[in-house]
Amino acid sequence: MKLFKEINAFRKFLKGKRQNGVQNIGFVPTMGALHSGHISLINTSKQNNQLTICSIFVNPTQFNNTDDLAKYPRTIENDIKLLIENNCDVLFYPEVSEMYVDDEQTNVEDYGFIVETLEGRFRPGHFNGVITIVKKLFDVVEPTNAYFGQKDYQQCAVVNQLIIKNNLSVKLNICSTLREVDGLAMSSRNARLTIEEREAAAIIFQTLFQIKKSFNTYSIDELTTKSITQLHSSPLIKVEYLEIANPTTLKPLVDKDERTKAVALIAAWCGNVRLIDNLLLFD
Ligand code: AMP
Repeated sequence: MKLFKEINAFRKFLKGKRQNGVQNIGFVPTMGALHSGHISLINTSKQNNQLTICSIFVNPTQFNNTDDLAKYPRTIENDIKLLIENNCDVLFYPEVSEMYVDDEQTNVEDYGFIVETLEGRFRPGHFNGVITIVKKLFDVVEPTNAYFGQKDYQQCAVVNQLIIKNNLSVKLNICSTLREVDGLAMSSRNARLTIEEREAAAIIFQTLFQIKKSFNTYSIDELTTKSITQLHSSPLIKVEYLEIANPTTLKPLVDKDERTKAVALIAAWCGNVRLIDNLLLFD
């Protein structure tokens, strides 16, 4: 695996590859502390591209909470080992100073409701940071395909808008969420859960599953209330939001019939760890 920390050397390498006939480049941006969920994205990229590039960059501008940024797990040696074992072709892992000039502002043009709702409501500025870094990374890599996880459902919707607004030629590929045996979505943050919290965290997926099962039986209001009560049956869980929304616009649903397409999205604190998950409520 080729490793790059500097944009210039990385660009030069990519230019050489393109001159040598590489036409399809798959790109998997991550913040590291890699797990099987990330690796599934690498594997999907490997199947569909001549060159697969992973980036690891804990992007400071998307953290609205300095404690969360400081505590974000960093396991670069293990990550490199895992990427080599899984035949990733290139790793780009720049320092912050390589991606940002001092005090760089990350206000982006108006993306409207899609960045203001859900995560945007509880993590102000989060998507400004996401849009800024994904745009910078796309600009360096110029990928044919980009791979993102459905686990970060709203992020996928925002990146989709970024591509449309900027007329980028990259194709967004959304990959399904990899889960632990009890249904908990794999996440780098899971490593911070205590044994008790880790056990309690499974209720998030159980609740999503329950919403899907009973979607045709109850109203949106009833589903929401019942689900929040179910989550709070664990003293370790504190719900930030639980919403049943339109899968494209993310506007909250008020009414539905059995044909309504919807997605359920949850953010909840499990002890001191903030977890998110979602489930499409149609097949
Ligand atoms: P992160 O390092 O958390 O920023 O994640 C990097 C990419 O991996 C994002 O596109 C995530 O949505 C995706 N990802 C994270 N967890 C999972 C998972 N459990 N299954 C599939 N993709 C995931």
